[in-house]
Amino acid sequence: MAIPSSQRQLKRINESIVLHAIRQQAPISRAALADYTGLSPQTLTNVVRRFMEEGLLKETGTAGTGGRGRNRVQLELRDEGAYAIGFCMERDSLSKALVDLRGHVIHYQCEEVPAQEPPLQTMDRMIAYASSILKGAEHASIRDKIVGVGIGTPGPIDYVRGEVVSPPDYEAWSRIPIRDHLHGELGCPVVIDNSSTVAAIGEHWAGRWGTDSFLYAYWGMGIGGGLVAGDEIYRGQSGNAVELGHIIVESNGRPCLCGGYGCLEAYASIPALLHEASAYGDFRDIRQLVQAAKPGTVFMEIVSRAAGYMAQAMVTAVNLLDVDLIVLGGDHFHLAEEIFLPVLRERVEAQPLRARVAQVRIGVSALKQEAGAIGAASLVFHELLL
Ligand SMILES: [Zn+2]
Repeated sequence: MAIPSSQRQLKRINESIVLHAIRQQAPISRAALADYTGLSPQTLTNVVRRFMEEGLLKETGTAGTGGRGRNRVQLELRDEGAYAIGFCMERDSLSKALVDLRGHVIHYQCEEVPAQEPPLQTMDRMIAYASSILKGAEHASIRDKIVGVGIGTPGPIDYVRGEVVSPPDYEAWSRIPIRDHLHGELGCPVVIDNSSTVAAIGEHWAGRWGTDSFLYAYWGMGIGGGLVAGDEIYRGQSGNAVELGHIIVESNGRPCLCGGYGCLEAYASIPALLHEASAYGDFRDIRQLVQAAKPGTVFMEIVSRAAGYMAQAMVTAVNLLDVDLIVLGGDHFHLAEEIFLPVLRERVEAQPLRARVAQVRIGVSALKQEAGAIGAASLVFHELLL
């Protein structure tokens, strides 16, 4: 007999609660898990049994001799229980990774790929990488445990149809059905999301912040964001929530790639900084510019001003969302961190109204250039395991 959809949904919700709890609290005993989730012992037993059978969980610690001793058996995720392949498209690169269930990187590659490359060519790069893992000999032992492929793409996206929809600067990417194309070529499940959202999912999946709600802010060639609210990813109505880079920081300001004026991205992204600095010197990349940004120089002024714009947008975001943690990340953020962080901390910890109630923490992602690809792989676990 088919299970009614409401029951299936309930089962899925219970499984999701248990897996989230184990991910965040592990190692955790069954008794502690019952307390933490509030699920009945019978439900919990069923869910844990299913995950054990699928090889996603393992027991650690010692089994006691009855009574309370049983609690010494702890549950945790089995790193090698499942794997996923993740891709993340940035404006100048494509990163690719094979990641295990706990977000450890088994293999990682990043190559320079310009946004202007024809979509078929970029997708061929992804197909070649995934095929080498799914069909090659090197990873033969884990092939059966690969749950699927996740892709972080530039936004906007059509989340329901799995399409990339004309992102600024990506001229040829007009309604490209990337999800179905890769699924057709690879034959395994494929999921997509905005690259900043996948980075936020990566942070959340790694579970290192000890909270179930935070704002992720991506800084790099573009500026983006992702919101994790109460253990869920907030995507908005069309799957394009938290476009931090397009918060307006100057009315009637500089033109932005989105077609608007005065957006944060036009003032504080790497291309914006390099463009501004080019009037005073010749800089190949942000590393060179930050090195030249010594106290008292025009370059320090340029980078500090960008940090101020970033802070302005973060204050707006905190006022809007009432989050108590902002995690900053992106391949290049560590280069500018020393100049950005003090400005952000000073403004964001004091200025939003909620700061009168409780402080807003600012953290920096420990995941550097791998963040996007790890996040894209985590998206697979997030969407397909539950
Ligand atoms: Zn814009």
